[in-house]
Amino acid sequence: MFRAVTTVDAALRALDELGPGAQVIAGGTDVMIQRMTGSLSKSEPLVHIGRISEMRGVSLGSESITIGALSTHRDIRTDPILAAHLPSFVQASSTVGGWQTQEVGTIGGNVCNASPAADLGAPLLMAQATLVLVSSGGERRLQAADFFLGRRQTALEFGELLTAIEVPIPAPGSWETYIKIGRRSAMEVAIVGLAARFVVDGAVSAARLAFCSVAPRPMRVPDAEVSLVGTMLEDEAIAAAGRLCASAVSPIDDQRATASYRTSVVPRLVRQAAEACRSELV
Ligand SMILES: Cc1cc2nc3c(=O)[nH]c(=O)nc-3n(C[C@H](O)[C@H](O)[C@H](O)COP(=O)(O)OP(=O)(O)OC[C@H]3O[C@@H](n4cnc5c(N)ncnc54)[C@H](O)[C@@H]3O)c2cc1C
Repeated sequence: MFRAVTTVDAALRALDELGPGAQVIAGGTDVMIQRMTGSLSKSEPLVHIGRISEMRGVSLGSESITIGALSTHRDIRTDPILAAHLPSFVQASSTVGGWQTQEVGTIGGNVCNASPAADLGAPLLMAQATLVLVSSGGERRLQAADFFLGRRQTALEFGELLTAIEVPIPAPGSWETYIKIGRRSAMEVAIVGLAARFVVDGAVSAARLAFCSVAPRPMRVPDAEVSLVGTMLEDEAIAAAGRLCASAVSPIDDQRATASYRTSVVPRLVRQAAEACRSELV
């Protein structure tokens, strides 16, 4: 059974009516593959939310930017508000698969699927985003850090939809990036990804480093972040932060890379991000 809905209310009614087996489908780029390969049952009903226009688009508020959960990677890649304020989101969505996947795949699907390699998980965590979850019982808001619970596990409860993601506007002097290591530049999920932000006011006054594909869920490395505060991103400070990151991650071997390769890449990504920031801001 396939039920297409065009409003949030209709989606919530459908989920309540169809019961716990019902599967939400947005762009379908994860769900359809999971149904084809057997990791999701093919017989369960689908609730197609892809045409709910109130859940799509980017808007700028006085303190935060709201990204509708149904915004596609193409929407994010081409959005001028995100380009001006949150370039790491633009960079992350630009690396998701090829253009066909970016055309239909959504930020909400990327986040709710909760693959350890999902490209948007790291920017969300780095930017301290809030996820807006709505059910027929009302609305709740969760920090990204509390949403991702493990590999393919989130705090989303049955009958809930992620409707939007709210991201605080970065402080003046912020510089950020998303860097992804993959075997190819397109159609490849991350071997390691890093979303980094440095706030520079003479020296670094704040740093945030969030990785994907090095643990069951996206992770920050607070010790490394703190170690960069007060520095001018000198080579030794960058190297020390890279070492702290490498010792904090817990990657696995899989068909794309070994754990030891992933660990060795981590300090290189920290250096690449910090050097790029230093050349522009410090
Ligand atoms: C060829 C190919 C290449 C890919 N490359 C990458 C890559 O490089 N990087 C990467 O990160 N991913 C990649 N992916 C995975 C996928 O495209 C992305 O994760 C995409 O963003 C998923 O979005 P979707 O709308 O298609 O999700 P769907 O498949 O529709 O849904 C995914 C999951 O999220 C749930 N869901 C979706 N939206 C909501 C919502 N609003 N509220 C509650 N639950 C929801 C669904 O129930 C399902 O469990 C690739 C996929 C393909 C097929």
